Amino acid sequence: MTLHESLAEIYDEVLRRNPGESEFHQAVLEVLDSLGPVVTKHPHYTDSAVIRRLCEPERQIIFRVPWVDDQGNVQINRGFRVEFNSALGPYKGGLRFHPSVYLGIVKFLGFEQIFKNSLTGMPIGGGKGGSDFDPKGRSDGEIMRFCQAFMTELYRHIGEYTDVPAGDIGVGGREIGYLFGQYKRITNRYESGVLTGKGITWGGSLVRTEATGYGTVFFTEEILRTRGDSFDGKRVVVSGSGNVATYAIEKLHQLGAIVVACSDSSGYVVDEKGIDLDVLKDVKEVRRARIAEYADLREGARFVADGSIWSVPCDIALPCATQNELNEADAKTLAQNGCSIVAEGANMPCTPEAIRLFNDAGIAFAPGKAANAGGVATSALEMQQNASRDRWSFEYTEERLAETMRGIHDRCLETAEEYGAPGNYVVGANIAGFTQVADAMLALGVI
Ligand code: GLU
Repeated sequence: MTLHESLAEIYDEVLRRNPGESEFHQAVLEVLDSLGPVVTKHPHYTDSAVIRRLCEPERQIIFRVPWVDDQGNVQINRGFRVEFNSALGPYKGGLRFHPSVYLGIVKFLGFEQIFKNSLTGMPIGGGKGGSDFDPKGRSDGEIMRFCQAFMTELYRHIGEYTDVPAGDIGVGGREIGYLFGQYKRITNRYESGVLTGKGITWGGSLVRTEATGYGTVFFTEEILRTRGDSFDGKRVVVSGSGNVATYAIEKLHQLGAIVVACSDSSGYVVDEKGIDLDVLKDVKEVRRARIAEYADLREGARFVADGSIWSVPCDIALPCATQNELNEADAKTLAQNGCSIVAEGANMPCTPEAIRLFNDAGIAFAPGKAANAGGVATSALEMQQNASRDRWSFEYTEERLAETMRGIHDRCLETAEEYGAPGNYVVGANIAGFTQVADAMLALGVI
């Protein structure tokens, strides 16, 4: 790809200043690649160094997390919180606990979060955090002690007007509970708005659990609607089997699609009758077991340990597992099998080569920062309820989510059209997300 000259300079600087952080480079390049028409039309965005400032996090915190495992051994992990941009509101974004986490992953996620949060239209800035802690195989007591140790440092950096973490891979309701408990204990404040993804009996919002998966499906429904089509009878492949995938499958089935495959890091299952969500939830949420057990429990389903889930023929593909899980070869297979829509439930699951192929093949492609923004949008709704000490019904909250996703979809399409790339959701999402943040940064001065 060839970048506009001023953007190429910025990208070179990002490479130089952030050596070895390939995922961060990838996320920055994808945005810069869309901004050419913006800086041509509105050169003041480069004159005032807004884009260069955007690429440098406002604050990066790295800390030691010491904790004691069940055998009495002291374990050391590394904790991160990257407070990337607060032009639109307090830093907002999840925490990821996974052994692959290092500064480059947290920065890529934090960078994406700026644009995603901007697209929601809600008053939230961008940030992300996490740890290289591996929750796999850890007891409940170990998870709790790790979360307490993590919060013992993090608490001094966050707050309802400063930085509001939530979940991501490896961090769900259980972990948010332990984190919130420790925050409350240290600060002696019941500050509900400091974390989102809380349980509904202690300040959480209905629909937050379902929101990322549901939102991705609502976004996809809008793509179908622009083509005069619907989910009825569509074959869908959803990768992953965590929070995003589970609730994407639930909503897809409610809307008449049939989800024929899902996966975890050990392999994938194919179930031509449609994934049975009760069985899946039992395996993944209750037993916290591997996906192979799904095939043991469900007649007619088969487990595949090696190979790609994207070889399962489908009309629509929703990658909902993790970054760079769908490469060029997978994209080729999807195109050959007649897939016509790909929407990212995870953050940056498709490689740049795969995205190029989708464009060339005429496959509609919705990037995560637009398609999976329903999670963080519903976090913002949780913050609203906390601020007003109110509790909304499931139906009302779900309608607010659906409305937000329709709004993001339309704004992406309109912006893509305005900047000469009709139908290109990547261009639309990047430009629409960028201009709102950039205008706020300009208004606030050089800070
Ligand atoms: N981790 C989620 C995301 O990638 C949600 C963040 C949040 O709710 O703050 O957007």
